[in-house]
Amino acid sequence: MKNIASKTRAPGGPAAADLAPLAQARHLLLDLDGTLVRQNEAIDGAAELLERFEGRFAIVSNNSTHTAQGLALRLRRLGLRAPPERIVLAGELAVSLLARQHPTARLMVVGTPALQRHARALGFRLVASEAEFVLLALDMRFSHARLGAVANELLRGARLVVTNADATHPGPHGRVVPETGSLLAAVLTASGAQPWRIVGKPEPLLFEEGLRCLGAEPASTVVIGDNPATDAAGAARLGMACLLVGTAPEAVAPSVAGLLLPRATAEVTALPARPTERSRLSTA
Ligand SMILES: [Mg+2]
Repeated sequence: MKNIASKTRAPGGPAAADLAPLAQARHLLLDLDGTLVRQNEAIDGAAELLERFEGRFAIVSNNSTHTAQGLALRLRRLGLRAPPERIVLAGELAVSLLARQHPTARLMVVGTPALQRHARALGFRLVASEAEFVLLALDMRFSHARLGAVANELLRGARLVVTNADATHPGPHGRVVPETGSLLAAVLTASGAQPWRIVGKPEPLLFEEGLRCLGAEPASTVVIGDNPATDAAGAARLGMACLLVGTAPEAVAPSVAGLLLPRATAEVTALPARPTERSRLSTA
């Protein structure tokens, strides 16, 4: 099974060969933004894909601003049914990994109030100084003062855990929204430090957690995403097939709807049922 379907897209839909991994997939690991949702809308085909793979998919997202519980509700309002226990988010996972490995650590969380609440719920006492770990997530109130605080904690010896290294994510009207990776660049420039751990895609942690919660094997799991650098590269590292949707040159369809209603596949599937000219002649 090749890792990235890269055949030229046939007019009107993906080639049947591009979709072979999906036909054989037992489990799916699905990206969220740009794959299932765009801003506040479900993408064409997303609801049907989740229905077809009910109980056999996990959403793995570099999102560091929401909790799975909150996101499941938001998706429900968009008509997408995804149980929170099957939503793996970089922010929450980063906190969970720290809680598992360093449950009593002094932790500074640079992120949303939702992520800070999650860290407190897992038993962390959040600190503003003398931190052993700094968790850097997407913080919409990031400022020069906060950058200074983080840089000095790292220079003092705190270890830097980063939810994800994406520079931007797509915003409304074709604009970009700065992501955690942009904040990370500032932190690294100011401190000269290096991340101790990066949790999000293309690093393997998020995919591994998705596989674990499904009880899935990489060989029978397909990743569907829209980003070659995170979804496809991360899938390849773990030996999983990946189908890209969207506008990337490697994409096999403009949206997940194209994975469900492939004209080429429909024709191939229909072929055996249609007698060919030769077989009609020979049975006449
Ligand atoms: Mg995406």
